[in-house]
Amino acid sequence: MPEEYKPSGPYKFPIRRWMSLEKMMLTNYPRLQKDFEKLRRKVSANGKDGKTEEKKKHLEWLLRKGENKKAQITCPYCKKDPVKYFFVKYFFYEKKFVVKESFAFCGKKSCQSDASPGAGSDGAVEVLPVKFSSIDRFTLKKDQKKITRLLKKLFGLNSLKNEDLFRFFSC
Ligand SMILES: [Zn+2]
Repeated sequence: MPEEYKPSGPYKFPIRRWMSLEKMMLTNYPRLQKDFEKLRRKVSANGKDGKTEEKKKHLEWLLRKGENKKAQITCPYCKKDPVKYFFVKYFFYEKKFVVKESFAFCGKKSCQSDASPGAGSDGAVEVLPVKFSSIDRFTLKKDQKKITRLLKKLFGLNSLKNEDLFRFFSC
């Protein structure tokens, strides 16, 4: 079995030191997904480049952590389990969507129906998991920001400092 990768700190960029892969999870998640694909191809083409390999390992670790974080908010309906999903309510005529904390629920059927905002006559609802990959569901930057804001609330994430984010993703 391969040894588990355990980074000791955030992955900061050599030139832009204030930026890290950790911060990009919140500022440009879709870009990270694309970067990971590129790194994967690069590493399999030339496995001896230590820097590329390190970045690939760190990113792989980070993306996996982002999919397994537990929300800090308890389901407002059963008041028992942490929220795991949230509703997105689309308004087709106005070409917009709404997400909010009260649209989040634990996953139980009864909580789902309590949390459902209802589709209305000119809209639809969709259920997405409380995971970073849900940001990737949206193509517009402003929409991605909206999802990120909600995730930050659900994960109880207040700081955007590289070290704080690293701690958040590590545990
Ligand atoms: Zn519940």
